[in-house]
Amino acid sequence: MMPPRCYVCGLDRRTARPGPLHRRFVLVHFGGVRPLPGGRVGHPPNAVWFCSAHAGPAKRRRRLPKGEALRQIDALRSGSGPWSSLLRRWWPGSSRR
Ligand SMILES: [Zn+2]
Repeated sequence: MMPPRCYVCGLDRRTARPGPLHRRFVLVHFGGVRPLPGGRVGHPPNAVWFCSAHAGPAKRRRRLPKGEALRQIDALRSGSGPWSSLLRRWWPGSSRR
């Protein structure tokens, strides 16, 4: 399992506020939870970490395949997508970029 690091802002357990990791980070499984082939242990290829501030839009896209979900999240983040008017509400601090 990869250590938590937010896909959007890069927050990790060194830079996150103190507190229980499961309250700071959410592992989102895009396209559903799938066990690794052959009973292997590790980080599922369709699972991505998000900090609690950025988990909402990711969770709303968890039914999508990972590639499509991350494309939409990238578009949100860059402000180029059709949702850019919602950006400031969803991404605290994004107006500083
Ligand atoms: Zn984040």
